[in-house]
Parts: sequence; C-alpha cells; structure tokens
Amino acid sequence: MQNKLDFLAVPFNRPPVTGNELSYIMNAIASNKLSGDGPFAKRCESWLEQKTNTKKALLTPSCTHALEMAALLINIKPGDEVIMPSYTFVSTANAFVLRGAKIVFVDIRPDTMNIDETKIEAAITPRTKAIVPVHYAGVGCEMDTIMEIASRHNLYVIEDAAQGVMSEYKGKSLGSIGHLAAFSFHETKNYTAGGEGGALLINDSKFIERAEILREKGTNRSNFFRGMVDKYTWVDIGSSMLPSEIQASYLFAQLESADKINLDRLERWNTYYKELKAYQEERVIQLPVIPESCQHNAHMFYLKFSDIQTRSQFISYMKQNDILTVFHYLPLHSTKAGQSHSRFHGEDNYTTSESEKLVRLPLYFNMSDEEFNKVLHHLELFLTQLVEAK
Ligand SMILES: *Cc1c(COP(=O)(O)O)cnc(C)c1O
Repeated sequence: MQNKLDFLAVPFNRPPVTGNELSYIMNAIASNKLSGDGPFAKRCESWLEQKTNTKKALLTPSCTHALEMAALLINIKPGDEVIMPSYTFVSTANAFVLRGAKIVFVDIRPDTMNIDETKIEAAITPRTKAIVPVHYAGVGCEMDTIMEIASRHNLYVIEDAAQGVMSEYKGKSLGSIGHLAAFSFHETKNYTAGGEGGALLINDSKFIERAEILREKGTNRSNFFRGMVDKYTWVDIGSSMLPSEIQASYLFAQLESADKINLDRLERWNTYYKELKAYQEERVIQLPVIPESCQHNAHMFYLKFSDIQTRSQFISYMKQNDILTVFHYLPLHSTKAGQSHSRFHGEDNYTTSESEKLVRLPLYFNMSDEEFNKVLHHLELFLTQLVEAK
C-alpha cells in the first residue's frame, strides 16, 4: 500500500535557521560596516567567551583557519611532531602539515571513537610539540588524562572542538580546556555562520595579542582601533582570518537560540537511542557511548553494524527509500597524503575496523515528525530483518 511518507525525501542534514538571521543581516547592511570585527562579531565573541568560560574567542572564516592559527601560534616548525587520531577530518592534520609538521596518529577508543588517551604517551618523542584531541560527535575526549600527559611533557593541547559547541567534560565547556581550541560553524555543524565559519578559543592568555596580529594580516590593527598605537603597521607574519559581518550576524541569530537548538537535537537523539536500544540488546548494532564525565550536544547520531557489508546494505536500503544516511572519515593514515605526512604509532586495532562499521543518521534542527518517523520506520524494518536472519 502506498503511503504519503513514501514520497518524502529525508536529507542527511539541513542547515539550521532560527528566524532572526535575515533581520540581523539587514541590520548589518544598514550599519555600513560589513568587514570583520564589527558589532555582530563582537557580540558572537562575547557570547562564546561567556558561554564557554574561555579567555578570548576570535571568529574565523572556518574551523580550518582556527586550527591553522593555532599551528602558527605554537610556532610549529618543519620536523615537529603532532599527535592526533587518524579518525578525523583532513583539516585537523593539514593545519600542522602546512607548517611542516609530521603527524603521529594513535588509535581511537571503540566506545567514543575518540583518541585513546592511554596510547598517547608512548607516541611522544623529543620532537613532539602538541596533542590534538578531536571531540568526535561532540563527546569529550578524556581531557584530564590528556592535560596531565601534556603538562608532564611540556606539550601544547589544541582541542579540535569543531563538533563540540555546547558540550561539556566534567562541567567544563569543550574548547575551554586545552591551551587553544577550534570551533566550526560550517552548515553541517549545530550552529552555522551562514554556511562557513569558525572560532579560535584562547585559554592561555599569552597567545591573545599575537593571535589578533596574525588574524589581521600581520598588523597591529587591533591595537590601533583600541587607540593603543597611532598608526597600524606590519609587525609579524599573518593572513586574513576574519569573517564578514554578514556571517557574524547570521551566527549571532543562531547563538542566541543555542539552547533551543541544543534541546531540539537532544530530544531527537534520545528518541533514536531509546528506539534502537532493543536492537543493541539483540547484538545487531552498537549504539554510541556517552561517558559519565560528558554532557554532549547531539551533534551526531551514529550506529555501528557488525561489518562493512551490512553497513553498505543499510545505506542502500535507506537510499531506496529516499533517506540519506552517510558513513564518515576514511582514516587519514591510509590516504594518499597521509602516507607522506604521517605515521601511525602502535597498532591500528580500532581506527580502521570501527570506522568501517559506522553510519550516521539524519539529525538536524527542526526535523519534522514525518521525517523523523519515516527514518525510524525504515530503521526498524531493516534491523528486524537482521535480528530474524541471526
Ligand atoms: C567540520 C570539522 C572541521 C572543519 O571545519 P570547517 O569549519 O569546515 O573548516 C575540522 N575538524 C573536525 C573534527 C570537523 O568535524
């Protein structure tokens, strides 16, 4: 029998829109000030500083730029080594490779898909400069252990918190724990600056002044605007890493509604979890694990099948029903660029095998009940078949 849900296409993601974006963009236009560091950018930065309890937040055109700024700030030089998981987005590695670093990957934990903190110390050499934990799905890495290792070996910690806005680890915001951290406001993340955007979070205040210079093309323009110098001039290396007021105004509308977006996503996430729990008990799938120490932001709902074949069958089954589900990172150490810029320290026990089992389900702000119920309906049909085939 045909049902109206049969004709409904469910995307994997839909960029969030809260309602105030357009009027804030019009305000920005009317203010005759559209370049970077305008009033909306300042409002976003104060919001981020207060919400995360970080010393300084600077908006950037993307999280990639924020990571590149972090690599510049800690003075990465050719030959330096940076430790991170291989199960991550290319920018986590590229930001440091651009400065000449060699990437040293260590394995992930199968429960959270985050870097295995117990594998980090053995990968440290005299050339190691930094550790870059990636908070996958907005679930915090084991930061106490990571910060303790870093302080004992005199290393910097740069959190790739691209997915972690509004998440916490032991009551602290992700992004407020390492020396530096990067947020993403890309359209696929929980909050967007109109498609592209990011922020650098600075928790070690010694980096603040130089970060402002790097981001302003290597000039002391920020001090000039504060009236601290008569003229602004070239003082250091740098680039242009400021988003425009159009992006900042879009982002501010989203940040103002952050609680609403967060709750909406969490509600869908919790329902997925509740509905799928029985299938985990039947051992046909594995569900995400949220450690006690973490409050997550429902950035992503994933599940893991027992092998890559079942995952492929699932993705095509859902696609036949107009539902888009997607797998995620191909581990960086097995890519073409990864082979020249990195090495994997220790055994790859979980990075490759767990990434091959994982699939992400549609989850976005304002997902309609029809869309959500259609996904649940087909999930259950597919999973019931798996149970019966056992
Ligand atoms: C999205 C993402 C990035 C890149 O963010 P952009 O804002 O697109 O540059 C980096 N790292 C991780 C883990 C991400 O999820």
